[in-house]
Amino acid sequence: MQVEALKCKECGTRYPLEAHYACDACFGPLEVLYDFSGLQAEGARRRIQAGPDTIWRYADFLPFESQPQTALAAGVTPLIRADQLAERLGIGELWIKNDAANPTHSFKDRVVTVALAKARELGFDVVACASTGNLANAVAAHAAAAGMESYVFIPADLEEQKVLATGVYGTNLVSVRGNYDDVNRLCTEISGERDWAFVNVNVRPYYAEGSKTIAYEVAEQLGFELPDRVVAPIASGSLFAKIARGFEEWLEVGLLTGELPIFNGAQAEGCSPVAVAFEQGWEICKPVKPDTIAKSLAIGNPADGPYALELARRSGGSIDAVDDDQIRAGIRLLAETTGVFTETAGGVTVATLAKLAERGDIGPDERVVAIITGDGLKTLDAVRGSFETHEIDPTLRSFEERVAGAPLAT
Ligand SMILES: *Cc1c(COP(=O)(O)O)cnc(C)c1O
Ligand SMILES: [Zn+2]
Repeated sequence: MQVEALKCKECGTRYPLEAHYACDACFGPLEVLYDFSGLQAEGARRRIQAGPDTIWRYADFLPFESQPQTALAAGVTPLIRADQLAERLGIGELWIKNDAANPTHSFKDRVVTVALAKARELGFDVVACASTGNLANAVAAHAAAAGMESYVFIPADLEEQKVLATGVYGTNLVSVRGNYDDVNRLCTEISGERDWAFVNVNVRPYYAEGSKTIAYEVAEQLGFELPDRVVAPIASGSLFAKIARGFEEWLEVGLLTGELPIFNGAQAEGCSPVAVAFEQGWEICKPVKPDTIAKSLAIGNPADGPYALELARRSGGSIDAVDDDQIRAGIRLLAETTGVFTETAGGVTVATLAKLAERGDIGPDERVVAIITGDGLKTLDAVRGSFETHEIDPTLRSFEERVAGAPLAT
């Protein structure tokens, strides 16, 4: 078995594999520690290829003794070659990892699948979360599928689509008058009082492991090869850091050869504590009060910010921020060139990709992967008014008059 213990990321103290998230000695965050020394690349590869079309095909790299049974699947989303977008931006080879194609239409299905499986194994009956929106959808849905009770805490100003797509699953939906950081603080307090599995509080070390499966999938879909560069959004910074970890683990066991890709993080200007810290050369992030249309990324005090910074610097990448107009343009650009409609977080990623290309950061021969983390149907207001509808009477004449530019038959 590869999974060994929980380990403090700061001081290295080890703890048993329980619902524990902060070090008793130094308050540092805990993460899952593995020992891959007994894992042979050939055997691992065979088990992956013979595995189910879900994240469980990567069970060797997830924190369980044996592959859990889960009611709702996650993962194995399309990796799309985006030639038209590559041409528009002057990039040699560009791929879009479309994680909107998950059961609740965001990458959060991956982390919640792992967190819930661990919560069940540890004997919890109730799961809960502090959410910027997509986590609420995923926790409510996966808890419903598993027959578990759930409590979902959201900021009161969340997009209506995300509220509706959460309440429908029959969860206990709690709307908190405050921003995400207020919600998160409240949930940390509640987790001390209630015996619940808060997926991103007391079972966060397991939750975070789910994000590694994006790296495994990208590598497998590229024929067990690495991209040269990854562009991904940053909220708490967990997803960003864990994609790199996934590649590093596969390099360690010999499933991949080469170098860790360059990592570019993407934030919205209205909530960019990690991008600001990157620019200023700081090692920690100064908390901010979010004000952006990219609500799913609106974390003003990002728990994994320092690790995201460290990764961007170590890999030769960057962390950039884009404004709300650039986010809207990014959504349109992706939709028009790939047929993929993403939410505001994906707009942040595409706009950042465009910024990197314009700045000349991307070499002509690079293979670039952009991580699209959520579905445009959840943030419809971001595209409202961005195009025209031709309204006509049901007559040929009205059509001819009003729809200028429609080609005539010859
Ligand atoms: C949660 C989320 C992210 C990033 O999450 P991290 O907290 O950085 O792991 C990115 N995109 C979308 C759509 C999300 O919901
Ligand atoms: Zn510690």
